[in-house]
Amino acid sequence: MSACLFCRVINGEIPAQVVFSNERIVAFKDINPQAPTHILLCPVKHIPALSQAEAEDAAVLGEIQHVAAQVAVKGGLEGFRLVLNNGRSAGQNVDHIHYHLLGGRRLAWPPG
Ligand code: 5GP
Ligand code: ZN
Repeated sequence: MSACLFCRVINGEIPAQVVFSNERIVAFKDINPQAPTHILLCPVKHIPALSQAEAEDAAVLGEIQHVAAQVAVKGGLEGFRLVLNNGRSAGQNVDHIHYHLLGGRRLAWPPG
């Protein structure tokens, strides 16, 4: 059993509402949504933080952006935001890279 929460979601140990998956990426609904659409997109590979990603991880991180846009457009979102928190002081609480796809309401700028 993995100690990582999102590895456990990805391997099915913890149930989640998965909206997209392939061999490299899993996207699922956030358990505590901050917008009408709030989806988390993770690489299947356990990478603790963007600051710890390696050059070889660039392809999957780019693919995540493409998948996020496809999920957003298919979901009818005209505007959306893709956010990655890196480090505790920036709000990262789960140490497995995840992008937040947020949409369905007006999103203020700058974020808090
Ligand atoms: P972070 O704060 O690390 O950027 O984001 C972690 C996100 O994971 C939060 O938005 C939180 O609501 C979500 N989350 C935490 N535990 C679970 C869970 O067990 N299942 C799902 N689907 N989301 C979770
Ligand atoms: Zn993990």
